[in-house]
Amino acid sequence: MVPPSSALPGPTPAGRTHYAIGPGFILGLIRSRPVWTRAQLVALTGLARSTLSERIDQLAAAKLVMVGKEAMVTGGRPAESIRFNAAGGTLLVADIGGSHSRIGITDLHGSLIATTDKDIDISAGPDQILGSTLADFHTLLAENSIDASHVRGIGIGMPGPVDTATGRIVRPRTMPGWDTVAVPDYFRASFPNVPVLVDKDANIMALGEFRTSWSHEHSTTITVKVGMGIGCGLIVNDTVLHGARGAAGDIAHISRGSDVQCLCGQNGCVEAVAGGRAIAAKLNAAGRTVTTSSDIVDLVREGDALAVRLVRQAGREIGEVLIPTIALINPSLVVIGGNLADSPEPLLAGIRESVYAHSHPLSTEALQIVPSKTGPQAGLTGAAMLTLDTIFAENAVDAALSA
Ligand SMILES: [Zn+2]
Repeated sequence: MVPPSSALPGPTPAGRTHYAIGPGFILGLIRSRPVWTRAQLVALTGLARSTLSERIDQLAAAKLVMVGKEAMVTGGRPAESIRFNAAGGTLLVADIGGSHSRIGITDLHGSLIATTDKDIDISAGPDQILGSTLADFHTLLAENSIDASHVRGIGIGMPGPVDTATGRIVRPRTMPGWDTVAVPDYFRASFPNVPVLVDKDANIMALGEFRTSWSHEHSTTITVKVGMGIGCGLIVNDTVLHGARGAAGDIAHISRGSDVQCLCGQNGCVEAVAGGRAIAAKLNAAGRTVTTSSDIVDLVREGDALAVRLVRQAGREIGEVLIPTIALINPSLVVIGGNLADSPEPLLAGIRESVYAHSHPLSTEALQIVPSKTGPQAGLTGAAMLTLDTIFAENAVDAALSA
């Protein structure tokens, strides 16, 4: 029930009327900085102190907020402190690629507590891949003495288009046996009533990169994931762009006009020409022994001239397919990540060469092309951000606490 004092409509600094400020809005404020006092929250929201206290009590009972006392810097009586309780729950996150997967658990800030990773083959199908992901989640929880009931959300990246409303895979080009698979179903039995968010792996990587390293100075970015395959996630005006069927940014199967056959069945896709698989095949044909992106990166680091040349040429090919995307969305930043970017110089040099040579000056004069800052954990961090955005959306918190 809404107390009478909060039923008085009136403008607040947030542009809200008092009666519209529920616990979800208060939680959003509390999460936005490390520590608050009750007086600061009253001043900012315009809520009556009693109403604010009711909201804080609700959030504290849900273990989302901690109320304590702490010493003032200036001495004197300890002041009351109100903080977000990042330890009040756990997220399970997975970044599943075509040939590699990373799995982690995070706190409610999205900070990773523990991770594990391994090589996989996505064509092994959903039962094996998602079954082993679930087993790895249970192992990580047990190793960290966290009970399954502590889990508040699950975020999964998959290497193909995803209908984000349902978590279903949509007509993936190189994932046999996965079409229409509903990824959340594999986690429901172990984690009932826990939201399971699913998005394309390149999108969670783009989101993780953007939020941790770039959002303070950029709003429109392209993030390219180069590993054995190629993926791309677009952030437009601070939001991941999904498109009509979740395939926005899917540059891997744009034709480069060669006759090399791609795993998707077409010829000449950029992934077939410039992905790690293509580079590995050429290196193996020349007598090297290469099976993974890391093997290619090792050769580049050792200064193997053929490996450096092939990776740089792959960069040129990738740059060529980025040119129309750059013209269409006018980003200020292109981030290059993925396992093949662990030693990024030749890849970046090739991409820059193509993009700056063939783009209109207006679209490149403010464009930076940079290596990933967030590193290999960008996908897991992005999966956590995706999950936090959903479980801590104002309406979701209000609905959960009124249930
Ligand atoms: Zn293809």
